[in-house]
Amino acid sequence: MKLKIGIYWGAACGGCDVAILDTHEKLLEIADLADIYLWPVAMDFKYSDVRAMKDGFLDAALFSGGVRNSENEEIAKLLRKKAKVMIALGACAQLGGVPGLANMYTRDEIMKRVYIDSESTANEKGILPLEHSKDGAYDLELPRLYNAVKTLDQVVDVDYTIPGCPPASLQIYSALGLIADDMLPKKGSVIGAGERALCDECTRKKSEKTINRIYRTHEKLPDPEICFLEQGFICLGPATRSGCGSRCIKSWTPCRGCYGPLDDVADQGIKMVSALASVIEAKDEKDINATLDSVVDPLRTFHRFSLAASILRRRKA
Ligand code: SF4
Ligand code: SF4
Repeated sequence: MKLKIGIYWGAACGGCDVAILDTHEKLLEIADLADIYLWPVAMDFKYSDVRAMKDGFLDAALFSGGVRNSENEEIAKLLRKKAKVMIALGACAQLGGVPGLANMYTRDEIMKRVYIDSESTANEKGILPLEHSKDGAYDLELPRLYNAVKTLDQVVDVDYTIPGCPPASLQIYSALGLIADDMLPKKGSVIGAGERALCDECTRKKSEKTINRIYRTHEKLPDPEICFLEQGFICLGPATRSGCGSRCIKSWTPCRGCYGPLDDVADQGIKMVSALASVIEAKDEKDINATLDSVVDPLRTFHRFSLAASILRRRKA
């Protein structure tokens, strides 16, 4: 029997869908393994067909992206009912991802910026999209944009997570294999990624050197062999789950944290602040603050992928 799966994207860039396609020749094996019953980004399926399915009809639903609007929430709840296994696919579904940084603004600020103030917009009458409108005989409806991006598990019960921005393609393939072979680990597990911090698999040399200044990557050329953090570049390796194959590190770029926190960490960004504190050279408050002041945009640096899942969650409106 082939698996029956549904794939959906909420507030996401589509990179997770590209990661599915990036399985290359394994895509043919996925086609042998599973029949796809919903995949709006790639094929023309109707929500009404999903609504007509019996509850639990799908073996698995893979949901990428955060929950940004009423349509995302409606389909998350629908797929939760129709699928035996609900999988949060990628950093946005797991943690809010980069779209979750919009939680620094209110819904009204976002609408004004996008539809009125943006440099490329000519909208002198300040017309904003309406949730309900009429065009002749037609009643038109748009999804409601929420005041905050939510992670998938803030809306429905999630069984498993495949982390990453995007997840490594083979992780998605292996997850489908685990479902097909009835070999899924205990509910709540992160599938296909490591159980230790990225630093544990990083091959750069570490010497417990301390730093007194933070650099951005355009400010100096990093040494190719020494730990980024010990050179003053913020690298989220100490606060990030391993399993990506050190993709960025191998490309001379510090980790931005897309594989999310380890199991026992409540807030990835705050964990990273603590790791950074341990390598700062200064001992008195004035000098410590001077080093920390050289971090440009701390919130977006430490919570780049995880603001919506953090204990901060969003800016107070
Ligand atoms: S901080 Fe970054 S560069 Fe340093 S060991 Fe960890 S992952 Fe590697
Ligand atoms: S190195 Fe960090 S940011 Fe890059 S893919 Fe891995 S976890 Fe994501």
